[in-house]
Amino acid sequence: MAEFDTVLIRYGELSTKGKNRKDFTKKLLQNIKRMLKQFPDLQYTRTYDRIYIHLNGSEDIAELRRLLSMVFGISSFSFTEKVKADLEVIEATALRMAQETKLSTFKIVTKRHDKTFPMNSDGINRAVAGVILKNTDHKVDVHNPDFKIRIEVHEDAAYLTSEKIPGAGGYPTGINGKVLLMLSGGIDSPVAAYELMKRGIEVEAVHFASPPYTSDNARKKVMDLASLISIYQGRMKVHVINFTDMQLAINKAAGDPYSITLMRRMMFRIAEKVAENNHCLALATGESIGQVASQTLESVACINSVIHMPVIRPLVCFDKIEIIELARKINTYEISIEPFEDCCTIFDPKNPVTKPVNEKAEAYESRFDYAKMIEDCMNSRFTEVIHPAVQEEYL
Ligand code: ATP
Ligand code: MG
Repeated sequence: MAEFDTVLIRYGELSTKGKNRKDFTKKLLQNIKRMLKQFPDLQYTRTYDRIYIHLNGSEDIAELRRLLSMVFGISSFSFTEKVKADLEVIEATALRMAQETKLSTFKIVTKRHDKTFPMNSDGINRAVAGVILKNTDHKVDVHNPDFKIRIEVHEDAAYLTSEKIPGAGGYPTGINGKVLLMLSGGIDSPVAAYELMKRGIEVEAVHFASPPYTSDNARKKVMDLASLISIYQGRMKVHVINFTDMQLAINKAAGDPYSITLMRRMMFRIAEKVAENNHCLALATGESIGQVASQTLESVACINSVIHMPVIRPLVCFDKIEIIELARKINTYEISIEPFEDCCTIFDPKNPVTKPVNEKAEAYESRFDYAKMIEDCMNSRFTEVIHPAVQEEYL
């Protein structure tokens, strides 16, 4: 009977050295433990270039695999099985590992620590490879195999390590500072959150709501999205701003075609203040160049010019199709397409300007006391701490 012994975790982009490396592995271990908190009996070891998780043999391996593949900073991982040091058992276990993979060519790499074992390493390699060749379509490639099965033979047991399972890549979330993401109920901004977290950035969110024009359902939708993406960092703060009066004032002052430009300039001004108050070093959005009128380069320039803080736009060069694919992968798509009005869509102008200029935007803005209204928006702020969705619900 096989027994799962350890999970071997390899790190990704680890060009950083010294203290950075230590911070990286420390944070990674913390994030792995958080992701696997439903398995309280696991033991962990951290070495210079690996993390090992010691299993008890009773864990749900498929679940472990699913959860680990969502932890940023892991480049790949493998499961090790502990079996009886007996050639037939070793062969059967290796065969099952080979049958479980979709990869094609393989190599067996054996280390015989127990020199009393009745076959040398080369003999074990050949015997095990022979069984796999006979029972599967896999081919041997000793120089450039798609996967390796590693076998260590000790006196009390043999250890077989499976193929490398791809990890999520990137950096451990939280290692690279914090940004404030403008989170709408749309498809793009949750995907932007995912990309930021993958870069090791912690994400806090700000959402602009315009009740009663936007409904409670619209707000719940945003919180559901926040809950789904908070899986990757543990929890997420969402600041909700009441934007109704500001939006009405903008409509009165500007109207078509500058209302969207003004609305977004106000959103950026408010978001910058929220970011400063919450130690976020940059803003982020789900904008993608050319997608809509407010995302032409001219619009981006005109809107961005009202603030100083850097704005990160992870999706700036993504096609909508690519964004949708990612949204499906992280399970946010189905929620994002629920038909609740966002504050942007409520006052949707018929002919939004595609090449706004600062002078005109400023002229419209001079028609009302927006600084005071920004203060009011800031005072309306309500902060919720959102926890990860019960993951199974969405899978
Ligand atoms: P999304 O799918 O993210 O809603 P979109 O294609 O609908 O994007 P816009 O509505 O122009 O594009 O919004 C662009 C970006 O502005 C969004 O990705 C988000 O970062 C931000 N944003 C838009 N509406 C809101 C809102 N109500 N609250 C907070 N941020 C918003
Ligand atoms: Mg939107």
